Amino acid sequence: MKIGIPRSLLYYYYYPLWRVFFEELGAEVVLSSHSAKGILAAGLKNAVDEVCLPVKMFYGHVLDLVGKADMIFLPRIVSVEKREYICPKFLGLPDMIRCLKNLPPLIEVDINLYKNNKDFYSAVKNIGNIFTKNHLDIWGACLKALKAQKKYFKLMQMGLMPSEALALIEGRVEDKSLPDGEKMNIALLGHPYNIYDPYISMDIINRFRAMGAVVATAEHVSGKIVRNYAARLPKKLFWSLGNRMIGAAFHYLEQPGISGMVHVAAFGCGPDSMTGGIIERYAHSSGIPFLNLTLDEHTGEAGVMTRLEAFLDMVRWRKAAFGS
Ligand code: SF4
Repeated sequence: MKIGIPRSLLYYYYYPLWRVFFEELGAEVVLSSHSAKGILAAGLKNAVDEVCLPVKMFYGHVLDLVGKADMIFLPRIVSVEKREYICPKFLGLPDMIRCLKNLPPLIEVDINLYKNNKDFYSAVKNIGNIFTKNHLDIWGACLKALKAQKKYFKLMQMGLMPSEALALIEGRVEDKSLPDGEKMNIALLGHPYNIYDPYISMDIINRFRAMGAVVATAEHVSGKIVRNYAARLPKKLFWSLGNRMIGAAFHYLEQPGISGMVHVAAFGCGPDSMTGGIIERYAHSSGIPFLNLTLDEHTGEAGVMTRLEAFLDMVRWRKAAFGS
């Protein structure tokens, strides 16, 4: 059976977990194509107007899997951390997508870790039962998947981007030398599906690298450090991804090697308007050069490039003037 996974949204966080789990149960995993103009156009045509850019892109990725997959994996992700929620858009995703015509069957399970891990295990059992009734096989696949996921997170904490960590895990490239931190270190913060999707972000990571910057993201910081720094907020945020961004931002603001900070937001994103605002205030009070980029389907590449170049000029000027 071919299981389709949209190369979008939480793919950037949990793809190793999902892939290993399905493959261990005997399925073939099929990914949607890389984000591109055609995928976005299909998303824009079919998505409701009010949703944010990454959700519109997700529609396009689901449609790209039509004809390629027997089933599409589309969990209803409510919470991935205790006492925290994921953005409400993820809750409604299966309901929004179900309205599309001619889709293959969807694998819809609820994943809600808000209170405890019980729901996670019942989700694993429910998905596993599609392939086998043997509980040992299901739990064996689950354990291997969790191990692969742990390795993926660890590689990212060593400084790799998701695509680099995946390539390493899948044996597609030789071990890559990690960023040395000798040049300008830029902290790049944003939802993973925005900053790591080269089409949505206009390849911001590689553009910065090409201009001589070393890019550090929230995923390069361990969960423990992120949680400790995020706890400095007088009131905890509801959203797991927002907390990660805030904790990483506070951490990077205290690292002397960080020369500038960029926050990438999606137009129409409620959580981003709050987390971005908080990060901006703290960055300004620390005196570090800060850039806020808001992206939508109309954002022009030339405009983004001009802003990135101007930002790096400011960082260079500051480094030359103050040595940091
Ligand atoms: S957090 Fe923002 S960008 Fe992400 S799905 Fe929700 S509204 Fe969209």
